[in-house]
Amino acid sequence: MTSEKTFIGAIDHGTSSTRFIVFDLLGHPVARHQQEFKQIHPKSGWHEHDPDVLISSVVDCIDKAVEKFAQQGHDVSDIKCVGLTNQRETMLVWDRETGEALHNAIAWPDTRTTSIVRELKAKDGADDLRSVCGLPLSTYPSSLKLLWLLRNVEAVRNAYDAGRLMFGTVDTWLLYRLTGGKDGGVFVTDATNASRTMFMNLKTLQYEEKHLQFFGLDRSKIHLPSIVPSSSATDYGKLGVSRLKGTPITGCLGDQSAALVGQLGFSPGSAKNTYGTGCFLLYNVGNEPVISKHGLLATVAYDFGRPLKPVYALEGSVAVAGSGITFLMQNLGFATQSDDINALAESVDDNGGCVFVTAFSGLFAPYWIDDAKGTIFGITQHTQKGHIVRATFEAACFQTKAILDAMEKDSGQSLAKLAVDGGMSNSEICMQTQADLIGIPVDRPAMRETTSLGAAIAAGFGVGLWQNLDELMAMSRRDRTHFEPVLSKEASAKMFTRWERAVEMCRGWLD
Ligand code: ADP
Repeated sequence: MTSEKTFIGAIDHGTSSTRFIVFDLLGHPVARHQQEFKQIHPKSGWHEHDPDVLISSVVDCIDKAVEKFAQQGHDVSDIKCVGLTNQRETMLVWDRETGEALHNAIAWPDTRTTSIVRELKAKDGADDLRSVCGLPLSTYPSSLKLLWLLRNVEAVRNAYDAGRLMFGTVDTWLLYRLTGGKDGGVFVTDATNASRTMFMNLKTLQYEEKHLQFFGLDRSKIHLPSIVPSSSATDYGKLGVSRLKGTPITGCLGDQSAALVGQLGFSPGSAKNTYGTGCFLLYNVGNEPVISKHGLLATVAYDFGRPLKPVYALEGSVAVAGSGITFLMQNLGFATQSDDINALAESVDDNGGCVFVTAFSGLFAPYWIDDAKGTIFGITQHTQKGHIVRATFEAACFQTKAILDAMEKDSGQSLAKLAVDGGMSNSEICMQTQADLIGIPVDRPAMRETTSLGAAIAAGFGVGLWQNLDELMAMSRRDRTHFEPVLSKEASAKMFTRWERAVEMCRGWLD
């Protein structure tokens, strides 16, 4: 097998869109196809996806990208393996007998569980969860969403009572259906996805019985997927559908883990920030989890299987980043494409005194204020659309600053530069603002499909296309853009003080 004739496919199923990219062994994308899918908001604060659309969007993207690959004169059989990366925490339940979903997927930013969170926080044992699973009780993890379905949807409760309920995050659902569904589909999850449920012990990488009991789950009534390493030649089965039918799936990572891997963030102390629908900063802490004292999450960064040890990360999660831009376009009609949004931002000198706390799903790290609502401060007759756009970009940048400050306190280390990627990192003005607000350079690769690349790397490892991580470093010699901070420290600190004040003022909104 020559490296010129060996390719890896990556299914990258994000929150707003699905893509399939074929990479060569140097990490260059060779063919790709991307498709947006519908965001369903049945009520304020609710956020769902159609389970069948999730599957069909993946199959469509594979078929169309493979078609483009073949049109370039490549042989489709040279795609040796496929990796999967997916939006995390979003969860589904389905019936073991029919293999059909019993409800729409509840997506990670959904806040319908706010009252369940309050109830559970008051329960015995609540304070002990975080040191084992790394996550605080909030509307964010999959466990709370499952509890809501069990309490509110009869079909889900009935399947549970009959012992037929299958639970999975999006990786598990896609893997199950893409490999055969009820007719022998695999039922697994990788450790990075499992670490977003609150059910897994970060050290043992197994389900923690005490946590299942805390959430009132009876293991004899619910089927939970087996937790397996993120790279594996045997655990994920083979694609049973699409033009790649028969191709082995050999890697699986939650999207933020995949971005860290795609940025080659393998050494402790490396970090990346991905500005997609939300914005997620992962900081590699090595082979032992670090439980944050400052509002960050502890998570599995990646697990490439024995004899290698799992690698952990401290994570800062921001619920709204690119989705703030989408909101300005779709809900407020500011523009129809993101280039025009950036032109609006360029049309003004600064935020004109506006601060936009984009707390559409409450505020996540490091604040964890579940009753915050989106609020714009400082509007006057002078306010233009461009000021609001600036304030929307700044909201993600301020939260990133707050997360970096918390990471510095938890790790005792300060970052020298921040590697970035994700859709919103395409915005020059946003990345310059980010550098100005954190006072260190922002470093953006020219090839920004790092999440997909991470999935491809995990898959390639699974079948031994690379023997060790050092071999991947050839990929790092790529073009990158540096955004150097230019704003004075005083001006930056003043802006951040105003932001923190605004955060305090948007607490305590009643539903
Ligand atoms: P996900 O993986 O969460 O689906 P992506 O990384 O694909 O997200 O990023 C999509 C988000 O990035 C969208 O919310 C979109 O509004 C935003 N986005 C894309 N391009 C730009 C741009 N040039 N400027 C600002 N925001 C952008």
